[in-house]
Amino acid sequence: MRNVLVTGGSRGIGKAIVEYLIEQNYRVVFTYKNALPEDFPAAAIAMKLDMTEVAHCESLLEQLEEQNLYPEILINNAGITADAMFHKMTAQQFSEVINTNLISIFNITQPVYIKMREKGFGRIVNISSINARKGQIGQTNYCASKAGIQGFTKALALEGAKFGVTVNSVSPGYIETDMVMKIREDIRANLIKDIPAGRFGKPKEVARVVGFLIADESDYITGVNYDINGAMHLS
Ligand code: NDP
Repeated sequence: MRNVLVTGGSRGIGKAIVEYLIEQNYRVVFTYKNALPEDFPAAAIAMKLDMTEVAHCESLLEQLEEQNLYPEILINNAGITADAMFHKMTAQQFSEVINTNLISIFNITQPVYIKMREKGFGRIVNISSINARKGQIGQTNYCASKAGIQGFTKALALEGAKFGVTVNSVSPGYIETDMVMKIREDIRANLIKDIPAGRFGKPKEVARVVGFLIADESDYITGVNYDINGAMHLS
């Protein structure tokens, strides 16, 4: 049974990934930052920490090592938005999103990748976004962070390939989670008009792709980005 770490697994897409991977017989640990909702995935191990804090990430990995739960598979999912038109965006809104969505990936991935490289096996999946390549009004910070993830994924895939470490990204379109449901209702209705599939995606539809990418048998799939967006943006 392989060990998986899912960042931001208490809600939304991360929670669906945790639940799906438990069904698939993985041993799953997930992180969250604020509070566990009542319906959190109880069959997994929950760890409260802030992925933007290097010390928190170090302490998490020490605890996992002690408990024989050190990740062989890492799903970098934790992410936030802080939308504003660029002419009104504060430096804090910009850096908070870049720190949470991109820099935190360095904090957790580097130590985990070093161990994967030594052991000759690893799977890393980074959750990007449709808006990395499509762009989105009000999301210069978010789009920059998610496009950064795709470049990071390709570069690390090249480095990890001969060590049995695959690195891929998944770019969801609009998925029914808190992040999307907090968008104003009239804007959401307009978004659906732009989705040829005629609906938002479901978190489990993302989780199934992650499950495919992390399988032992997927060891020749690396450096790839998977779009899951109901044909909203084709690239
Ligand atoms: P949610 O807002 O529903 O959940 C975010 C999760 O990340 C929560 O578990 C949250 O913990 C955790 N988190 C946020 N910041 C931190 C932090 N600093 N440290 C630790 N945990 C943190 O997000 P979604 O499920 O909608 O999104 C998941 C990922 O998918 C994100 O990277 C997002 O950008 C991406 N995505 C989502 C899309 C969508 O349509 N929903 C579309 C494209 C991409 P807590 O609850 O404790 O705050």
